Order: sequence, then structure tokens, then C-alpha cells
Amino acid sequence: MFSTRSVLRGQLRPSVAVLHSSFYSSLSSAAAIQAERTIRQGPRNDWNRDEIKAVYGSPVLDLLFHGAQVHRHTHNFREVQQCTLLSIKTGGCSEDCSYCPQSSRYDTGLKAQKLMTKDAVMEAAQKAKEAGSTRFCMGAAWRDTVGRKTNFNQILEYVKDIRGMGMEVCCTLGMLEKQQALKLKEAGLTAYNHNLDTSREYYPNVITTRTYDERLETIKFVRDAGISVCSGGIIGLGEAEEDRVGLLHTLATLPSHPESVPINALVSVKGTPLQDQKPVEIWEMIRMIATARIVMPKAMVRLSAGRVKFSMPEQALCFLAGANSIFTGEKLLTTPNNDFDADQLMFKVLGLIPKAPSFSEEPAKAYEAEACEEAVSSSG
Ligand code: SF4
Repeated sequence: MFSTRSVLRGQLRPSVAVLHSSFYSSLSSAAAIQAERTIRQGPRNDWNRDEIKAVYGSPVLDLLFHGAQVHRHTHNFREVQQCTLLSIKTGGCSEDCSYCPQSSRYDTGLKAQKLMTKDAVMEAAQKAKEAGSTRFCMGAAWRDTVGRKTNFNQILEYVKDIRGMGMEVCCTLGMLEKQQALKLKEAGLTAYNHNLDTSREYYPNVITTRTYDERLETIKFVRDAGISVCSGGIIGLGEAEEDRVGLLHTLATLPSHPESVPINALVSVKGTPLQDQKPVEIWEMIRMIATARIVMPKAMVRLSAGRVKFSMPEQALCFLAGANSIFTGEKLLTTPNNDFDADQLMFKVLGLIPKAPSFSEEPAKAYEAEACEEAVSSSG
């Protein structure tokens, strides 16, 4: 073996290629090494936590650069999916998610509402479609759908009709049982959102009314039913970097990577236990997005809640790092979202193009050894 220094001093004369690779390997960050591996081998789900930690901890510009490399290798880097999230049943939720204004345990001034009528939902879906959204997501503030047969059957109708409009359809209705997942699949549901929120270790600091394992069970039922899984988390809950790594590790080692991974920055709401949290910085978002892109290359990494706080140049860095999906529309469930005209302008300025809907019948089995070249705050 020769050292890069001795080569540079001219004591050895290896080929340019050897010099190049030797020189670079001495400078390589974990982000560079793992991104190169992802590009060469394709997605994998045998990540260990230290590997992800090292990627996450790489110098931020290097991490961003390598997130971008994987992104360009795996996706059309100009395409950004536009999703619209509508709260079809707002507030009055029995759960105690400490970031959520919809929990009945906190006094946030939010008025609880019943399930929206079909006409109102269809009108919103039509409006979203006309504004360029290709995925329509419906959120209901429930712990689960058990004992809500009438409402659940109504939602099945909404799913069928919105799918009939040529849109992808997603729901986030709390915990599901196996049979309900199968019924949603039958109705034509594209994806089901159920976020893990944070790491297993930090989770009890955020929610006490349901367990991490219950969340994972719902995700399993969704996956087993053949519905795409949308699952990500929220940063800015007071968690440590280790917890962000833990969240990404859990997602990246599921039997198949989620089809969508929403990365949310807490939008603190007065009256919730997290009302005084310090806002998330753009560099924290970039670390999460680029790491998610490198460890789950095929997933739609969604720049979600909190986007409203970021400027266009800051959002541009997120797209560069690997984000390829956003929520559009006035509100994200109950919190403010980016202005429609501002988003249109952003697409124009950044040269982004809307992603067409995809109706593959099988969710992506990202963990299978497919080469990359062949080729995700919402309610809980
Ligand atoms: S995040 Fe979902 S489950 Fe938790 S309190 Fe809010 S609406 Fe209820």
C-alpha cells in the first residue's frame, strides 16, 4: 500500500485512476461511501444504526451533495409530486400526541367537526386536481376506525370516487385493523399514512396513548394489504439527533421501504405541550432529507409540515438534497401551508415539473435487489 502523500510527493507513480481513487477514499465521508454503495447495489434494508448515524453526521454540504447524487440516479430530479391533504374530520381526538392541536386534551381553540359530506370532499378533490395535485390525502382525527362502521363505509365511497377522478388517494385515519386495510385496498386506496413520528426511545415523550409497536402493526396491515405505506416523522419535538437517526433506521429496515417518507418540521401550536419548541433550522431538514434519500433511495421523500417557514432558496436546497414531494393547499390538516401562487412561482423559478399520478398495483418492494437505475405534520 502507498499513501496518498507519497504519491503526491512523486515517490510512486501509480496510474491516474489509482491516484484519483486513493486520494478520494482518504477524503470520503460516510455520506459519500454509502451513497456510492446505494447507487451501485440499489436499495437495501439491512442498515445498521451506526451506518445511518455516520451518514447523518457527515459534513452537511457533503451530505447534501451525495443525497443529490442518489436522487438524480434514482428519480427524475425535476419531478415533484404535489399532494393535497384535507382534514375530513377535524379535532376531538382522544389521543395525546403532544404536537397536535386536534387532541381533545389540549386547549388550542380548535373546533371539533364531524366527518365532511361527500359533496364537500369531492369538491375539494376536484379543486386540488385543477390546481395540479395528483394525490389527494384525507385525514381524520381518530385513534382508530374501530366502531365507526358508518363513517368508514362513507370514506370507502370517497376513496372509490376520487380514484375514479384519476387521482392517487391516500388516507390517514389512525390505527387500522387487517380487515379495514383490505377494504381500503379494495376501494382503490393508493397509500395509507401512518407516521412513526420519532425514534422508539423518544416516542413515550411524545405520545402515551398508543405504542410504537401498535404503529408498526398498522403499517404491517397496510403493507400486507398491498397498499403503499406512507410513513415518516416530525423533527423539532425536543428529540436528540440520535432519535432522528433512530427514526430513519426503523423506516429503512422495515421489510420494504415506505413508498413515501414525509419529513415534517414541527409547527408549534399554542395550547399544545410543545408550543414553546425552538423552530427547526433548514440544515436540520437537509440532514434528514439527504439521509432519507441515501438510505431509502426509491421512496418519495416529502417535504411536509413546516415548509411554510422556509424560503424558496431554502426549499430549493431540500429538493436538491432529495425531496421530491410536497403538500399543496391552504392548510395541512389544521396548520397553515404555503400559498398556491407562491408554489406555482417556485416550480417555475426552480424548473420543477409536477409528477404524474402512478397507479401500479403493487407497492414498491424497494428492498429487493433491484438496481437503482431500473428505476414520509400529518395525523397519525
Ligand atoms: S396526531 Fe392524529 S392521533 Fe394524534 S392527536 Fe392528532 S389527530 Fe389524534
